[in-house]
Amino acid sequence: MARGVKDLDVSHSIRNMRIHFYGTRGSGSTFPNRAERNDFKKLMEHQILEKCFEELSRHADSTGKIGPTISEILGGEINQKNLSTFRRRFEIPEPRMYGGWSTCVRIETADGYDIVLDCGSGFRNCAQDLQTQWGSREERHLHILGSHSHSDHTEGFDQAAVCFDPRNTIHIYGNFQFLFALDQYLGIFSRHVGEEVVGIHTPINYSVMPARFQAYEFLSQEPQGPASNRKELCAQSLDMNGTLRLGETRITPFPVFHPVPCLAYRIEHGEKKFVYCTDHELRHGSDANDALHEPDELDRLSREAEQRVIEQSQDADVLYRDGQYLRSEYDGLIGVGQGGPVSRVDWGHSCIEDVQEMAFKCRVKHTYIGHHDPNRSWSDLNWLDDSLARACSDRAEKIELAQAETVIDL
Ligand SMILES: [Zn+2]
Ligand SMILES: [Zn+2]
Repeated sequence: MARGVKDLDVSHSIRNMRIHFYGTRGSGSTFPNRAERNDFKKLMEHQILEKCFEELSRHADSTGKIGPTISEILGGEINQKNLSTFRRRFEIPEPRMYGGWSTCVRIETADGYDIVLDCGSGFRNCAQDLQTQWGSREERHLHILGSHSHSDHTEGFDQAAVCFDPRNTIHIYGNFQFLFALDQYLGIFSRHVGEEVVGIHTPINYSVMPARFQAYEFLSQEPQGPASNRKELCAQSLDMNGTLRLGETRITPFPVFHPVPCLAYRIEHGEKKFVYCTDHELRHGSDANDALHEPDELDRLSREAEQRVIEQSQDADVLYRDGQYLRSEYDGLIGVGQGGPVSRVDWGHSCIEDVQEMAFKCRVKHTYIGHHDPNRSWSDLNWLDDSLARACSDRAEKIELAQAETVIDL
């Protein structure tokens, strides 16, 4: 069950997990420009006019003529009370809002754990909500699961209120690159920032972040970075093939296909299963410009990763998955938004059509496609969402584009 956060009565207890989407954009934050705001306004005006004429037609005779007087239609004289009553007949559902913040998803568990997936710019609002919710509580722990090191998954970290409160302990889990990306310029684990990077990305670093930070690295068979850096992180090691338990929640990381090592997570609590899989590419064809790799090898690695996603997602209750492009955009036949056509092979993201096929095959109950391209306008997203709704109209599975501020109760 998913509802907009404004409609959800969050006072009722959590059965297993409550999932919040804070950032669903990929590759960078974006905000609606004037043309998009106008599209949005036109849609709202159209819907209100439609309701208005439906209401008037209820008072029309068979020839279409309206008999009653204005006060009869309004239900009395024109005053505040009658206008308010009349206005309620024209309430329209809240239009879809996809949001502009980059990737951040939060899970509250029934046994009181707070878990965050990735720290894109959406993490700033997420952290505000956590601080409000924790209030004057003394025991304050946050568990962050990182997918990978790219900036759209880490850029919100130094703006997050949770990092600036000495009462907070922040446990951060991920592969070496994710932990290293945060430590390199913030020094939160090693308590050190190299002279060559200090102040370059941000004026903030560990010296003004009084929260306690603890790193946990999911060990992988693949090379994870220079050995000399690994020691500095002071990370505890976790078995990549094992399951991490936080109270009653079971978390299983698994590698996906992206230009840098990237993890997806299967998260289970009670009988419910949520799969978080951002930044994964089901690869199509070779890139003629790629002189470094054998295309067939990359295709094989991508297909193996896709197979892992399929296995982990079987019968999932909720899947969040990267679907940044349409296949024609991925192939470089058309551009995204106003951008020119360019091949997206090996950019590390999947096609919406592939996600749809996979979600049906895996019988995922509800799939949210995210990592929206920052060049994708609101009206394009809305159009895509309508297409997905039509594709699911006679099926048990539901697929839609992920919207920021969505809250899902499992
Ligand atoms: Zn990304
Ligand atoms: Zn990425």
